[in-house]
Amino acid sequence: MKITIAQLYPRDMNLYGDWGNTLVLKKRLERRGFDVEIIDHNPGDSTDFSKIDIFVGGGGQDSGQTIIQNDLLARADELRQLAKDGVPMLMICGMYQLFGRFFRTLKGEEIVGANILPIETIAGDERMIGNIVIKSQEFGDIVGYENHSGQTFLDKTTKPLGQVIKGAGNNMTDANEGVRYNNIIATYLHGPILPKNPQIADFLIGEALERRGVSADSGLEKIDDTLANKAREIALKLSR
Ligand code: GLN
Repeated sequence: MKITIAQLYPRDMNLYGDWGNTLVLKKRLERRGFDVEIIDHNPGDSTDFSKIDIFVGGGGQDSGQTIIQNDLLARADELRQLAKDGVPMLMICGMYQLFGRFFRTLKGEEIVGANILPIETIAGDERMIGNIVIKSQEFGDIVGYENHSGQTFLDKTTKPLGQVIKGAGNNMTDANEGVRYNNIIATYLHGPILPKNPQIADFLIGEALERRGVSADSGLEKIDDTLANKAREIALKLSR
């Protein structure tokens, strides 16, 4: 069976190794015997989103977000429907922001988002930079690196991915980090996030397989994560 991963806007939205997330998904699927196709979707491409099993999007400069805005808006209804249908998606930083209603830059320009997640982001004059650890009921401790000016605020009913233990997270006001919505994981964590947090990679894979009729109920075939766990241990001890 072939699993298809779409990388949204890799030309403009791919910071701090975010493309590594796609690589982790590919390798973890291949080790379990699946074929994997990766499709890069850049502005103007006529990618058939209905064939995609997992969507991945990375971070980007404000300028990159402006470049992809029109294409994202043109594809937003499709993406919103797929998100509602439970297609797994991982959206990092700049793409996390643009899955919401808007990102208002420091210059006051509004970059309109796809309006999939009930959130809004407003740039502050202080960047939030450094190593970050968050705690999630679903995934345990999640480690990563953040670098953003945007402060994201969740609607009252929007569920965060976790609570910040070390770092800033969504904003400077509350302790929330990221968003959990249907099968979407949206977060500020770069690193990239998946190599050191394989539990999240396997969640996305499990949901993708379920949708294709492969039950992951009894758990996915185990992978030796000794190295990933060592990297996690070190990351957990890093100073901010
Ligand atoms: N441009 C956005 C911000 O600074 C996103 C940055 C990023 O993706 N790292 O908030």
